[in-house]
Amino acid sequence: MSPRARSRWTRTRFRGARELQVTSGRRDIQRERRPWGIAWGQPIAYSILEHELVHAIVANSLGNRYQKLAKVWHEFIAYAVQPEIMESDLKSKVLANYPDAWPFQFLESVNPIVYAADPDEFGISAYLFTVANGGPKFIGQILVKEVPFSTEEFEFLWSCTK
Ligand SMILES: [Zn+2]
Repeated sequence: MSPRARSRWTRTRFRGARELQVTSGRRDIQRERRPWGIAWGQPIAYSILEHELVHAIVANSLGNRYQKLAKVWHEFIAYAVQPEIMESDLKSKVLANYPDAWPFQFLESVNPIVYAADPDEFGISAYLFTVANGGPKFIGQILVKEVPFSTEEFEFLWSCTK
């Protein structure tokens, strides 16, 4: 990746069921954003791209049920998968930067306010929660609404769309 490319912010947006847009905002990412406190470079850039591809895969998997899964759960899934598939060296650095991180203690914690307050910490908690609840199997259960919980809260969160 060229230094010029490294300085650009890449954003991927899923549009419709068949189109994935990747745009560059030309912002100096080194000043503006350091995901999980990681210095900007190829490993974190690829990892962010993988996060966005998870969104696209989930969207493709859900089809016309896409909007039925609350937006924050889309983020939960992308963040839960991201550390699982990132380079092991990067994963070690990310987790080392969050030595006191905990999995979400309650499903209600997976909400837009917690996400907006600190997306990076939300992501670590989502990952740890997923690991503690079955890993990839848990993600699959979310996608088919067969989570190993029968809380009304989860159904409420699932049904809170938009
Ligand atoms: Zn995302």
